[in-house]
Amino acid sequence: MTKLTCIVCPLGCQITVADPKMSGELHITGHRCVRGRTYAQTEITTPRRVLTAVVAIENSPRLLPVKTDRPLPKELLFTAMEEVKGIRVKLPVKVGTVLRANLAGSDVNLVASKNMA
Ligand code: SF4
Repeated sequence: MTKLTCIVCPLGCQITVADPKMSGELHITGHRCVRGRTYAQTEITTPRRVLTAVVAIENSPRLLPVKTDRPLPKELLFTAMEEVKGIRVKLPVKVGTVLRANLAGSDVNLVASKNMA
């Protein structure tokens, strides 16, 4: 049995996921909506996280905030951070600009999360 706090909305429902029954389906309780059920199912089977970080700007001491455009498989987070450490960007940059496609070999892109001139 696994206990989770749903992070999809501020209510933070306490969700319990029981071991798969004979049918192989997860037995999920404690969620108040389908989004919580989906969250719990994903968290147990293929956990993912949005990665947030900062990258260096060429010829500047400032840093650009960045994030992935979708949640990244959790097992790729460290590999992705190693890749992010090596990125240098030239200004100007617009919010949403893809700075690295297919981060860590995934289908997720790293994008700027702020306009910087
Ligand atoms: S289960 Fe639904 S209501 Fe509860 S925290 Fe998650 S999203 Fe919010």
